Amino acid sequence: MFKESKELEVEITEINLDNLCFKFPDRSEIREEIVQTIKDEGGSSEENELIDEKEKELIDMVTEIEPVVSEMKEEITNLLKKYLPNWQVPEIKIVFEINPDSDYSIRDEGDISIDIAKLLKKDDIKKDIIHGLTHELVHLWMMENTENGKETESLEDQKNKFKVRAIEEGLAFLISDQRISDYKGEKTYQELNSQNLNAKEQVDTVLAIEDKDEFKRRSNDLFENIGPAYIVGLESIRSIKAELLEEEFREFIIEFREDSEETILKYQKILEEKSKQTSEDEKESDIKDGMRLMDEIETGVRIGGFFIQHEELRQELERREIDYIETDSFSDEMELPPQYTIGKKEKLSEALKEVDLSILDIPELENEISTLYGKIKNMTVVRAVNFLNSLSRLKGGWELPEVAALEGLLFGYRPCCVKYYIDSRYLGKPSYEEERHCFDDEEEYVMCKECAREKGKI
Ligand SMILES: [Zn+2]
Ligand SMILES: [Zn+2]
Repeated sequence: MFKESKELEVEITEINLDNLCFKFPDRSEIREEIVQTIKDEGGSSEENELIDEKEKELIDMVTEIEPVVSEMKEEITNLLKKYLPNWQVPEIKIVFEINPDSDYSIRDEGDISIDIAKLLKKDDIKKDIIHGLTHELVHLWMMENTENGKETESLEDQKNKFKVRAIEEGLAFLISDQRISDYKGEKTYQELNSQNLNAKEQVDTVLAIEDKDEFKRRSNDLFENIGPAYIVGLESIRSIKAELLEEEFREFIIEFREDSEETILKYQKILEEKSKQTSEDEKESDIKDGMRLMDEIETGVRIGGFFIQHEELRQELERREIDYIETDSFSDEMELPPQYTIGKKEKLSEALKEVDLSILDIPELENEISTLYGKIKNMTVVRAVNFLNSLSRLKGGWELPEVAALEGLLFGYRPCCVKYYIDSRYLGKPSYEEERHCFDDEEEYVMCKECAREKGKI
């Protein structure tokens, strides 16, 4: 009996917005509010032409919004459903009005105010309402479980509250599918990116403040105008989401509402654990790659190569008496992990003496290849490999074709495959499309047709 009744309780996430009541102002209310705003701003209420024009614009906009209310409710429901559990939204009014203080805000009694004057300036008004309202509804959902704070709070309490508030804003941004750049004017990706770094620094600086009053003031400033606290909050919530499965993330949101401070601490620990595990796994695979490369150099499969620096690998290089130097970075823009260039302990010309350059059979590049080879043949293998790697590159990080050709030989690829690589990537023959499937499993490299056939790839 008990079992059967339990089975009936199948949960489907249901968000019910029936109790949302949209309140639009009529013509006379709009006019009154316009006049009031003009007065508040110190203007003259006699400017009838201006008032008429504004009134018409706002009335037209409201007339356009009214018929799409149920459509918007449906989209808001879908956004909320993606992350929140069942929720019967309480009776609240969505009040469209002129509100110079804020574009979307929650009033003391729990109603949501939408400023129609700012709305008028948005590119996509319907979309803006959907995102803005969803955002405020997330705050309302959070508030249902928040008690009012104690009057006397310690500095630590205040700092925890600040973090919770930032993460709640991040969550509201994430759920409502808003982008911070939409609220920061015409910013490019790069500008926002550097602003992100900046944001984290600013937040950390404020979190280090030891004075209660100063902290209160400065931490509030970080929220002004979708400020740094929002950016850091959104980044935090994104990194939590990235580490969790969908169901785990939904669980996190529910826990976050129930006990925000505890939940943040708990998940911070989980994230630290996970990133420690990832870096251990990465190191293990680096060491494996490094050992394999050393084997290949000792057995003569390759003449030189690179791997990521680890002390264990360096000791092994010393033990095996393989030559190595720190790899020079080829790019100032990209931050790459430090690498070693390793190779046989001899001059390039000695190491390559068995290899005849003409074996490459790339007449188009014959001059470039032999000129470049002339520059490096008297260097040691590691110097030569490092030199080739540090040469400036084509757009997209591609090496010059003569560099790629020489490296192909140094790194032990078959001359037929090197020729194929140069022909297909740089000389337009045969087309890149044809050989997509000809990669080796062990290590990805492009194989020529004959080799691909030999290895059973085609
Ligand atoms: Zn918010
Ligand atoms: Zn081949």
